Amino acid sequence: MVNEYLASMFSLAGKTALVTGAAGGIGSAVAVGIAKAGANVALCDINTDALDPICNELGSTTAAFKLDVTDVAAFPKTVDEIATKYGSIDILVNCAGINKREGLADVAEETYDRIMNINLKGVFFLSQTVAHKMKAQNSGVIINIGSHNTGPVLGGVSVYAATKTGVLALTRSMAVEWAKYNIRANCVSPGHIKTELTAPTWEHPTRSKYLLDRIALNRPGLPQDVVGVCLFLASDAAAYITGCEYRVDGGCVCGGQPWQYDTEF
Ligand code: NAP
Repeated sequence: MVNEYLASMFSLAGKTALVTGAAGGIGSAVAVGIAKAGANVALCDINTDALDPICNELGSTTAAFKLDVTDVAAFPKTVDEIATKYGSIDILVNCAGINKREGLADVAEETYDRIMNINLKGVFFLSQTVAHKMKAQNSGVIINIGSHNTGPVLGGVSVYAATKTGVLALTRSMAVEWAKYNIRANCVSPGHIKTELTAPTWEHPTRSKYLLDRIALNRPGLPQDVVGVCLFLASDAAAYITGCEYRVDGGCVCGGQPWQYDTEF
């Protein structure tokens, strides 16, 4: 009875998801979660070698696709291939992303273009391509992975923060313009999650302390922590939710650790 009810709300059986950056920390956890919730999953990344073990473990409802999110010209072919293989694309998770930590004054044009192209332009044009399919089927869900830096920003992430704030703005445009096609778009903004991307921070003694002091739950996030909200947003349980941002940050933006000077908590 409970299982039946939960399945009617949250099951992704019969759906197909395309996940970018699916070889990465958060992307792989989300792709595995979506597959375990019953969907077919096209795991896309620039590096397909890392996808094969994930697909082998999950079985025939998943497949690996090489997709460089800067190669806009290649999107229609890959998207067609996935839609033909599974019959539809119901869920798009835009998760591929990079960062380079350096001061605003030191950023070279080449670095600016690379981060913009992967984090923002890729999200824009892949969503546009997949939305053509979603419009034709009159349904779809887009989940864009934002960041802590859509709100308060850390130092040394100017371009990254600009792209992620752009992703949030883009999410709202998608929600507004594509609602008439029954496409929902939301942004999931992780806080400080332990992955390759954040290893330079979490493996650094003072930077990791700086972050922990700002996390109320007093631990780094794990890729698994980001999965639940993505499953929720992909499911029919979120049928009336679009254009929103969901933070998964262990309590960063709310204030982090309380001060300990003269008050007992
Ligand atoms: P990650 O482990 O480095 O995963 C990113 C994935 O994207 C990697 O597999 C990477 O491949 C892939 N990628 C890079 N360039 C690509 C391209 N041109 N085309 C297709 N795929 C490409 O990082 P993560 O921490 O899981 O981050 C995933 C997303 O969450 C990113 O959008 C990131 O900005 C966001 N995010 C992360 C955190 C965090 O704390 N970790 C916080 C907020 C937001 P290679 O490894 O081969 O480059």
